[in-house]
Amino acid sequence: MNNQLSVETAVCSEHQRLLAECEQALDNWNDHRAEFCKSYPIGKEAGDELVRLQANYARAYTVLRKHEHNCLLCQLVSTAEERDSEKSSDIYSDSMR
Ligand SMILES: [Zn+2]
Repeated sequence: MNNQLSVETAVCSEHQRLLAECEQALDNWNDHRAEFCKSYPIGKEAGDELVRLQANYARAYTVLRKHEHNCLLCQLVSTAEERDSEKSSDIYSDSMR
């Protein structure tokens, strides 16, 4: 253990939680979308559910973005990532896939 605070290994637990929520919402949405594609034509109820899930994801994503904007730790991390963007692959787009 060393005492030096490394920004690159710093983890914002709130950000992790929000990111997990965001991914969960995206997973749900994708699952339902795949399900609905198999059961064409899509009924109104199924369509409403899909819209609801999409809204859930959009909301989770907005909360995540807002947190990144307001959280000092997250800003430090993203600044560090920009600085050596060559070696650090984009963890967000990777995990969002
Ligand atoms: Zn944060």
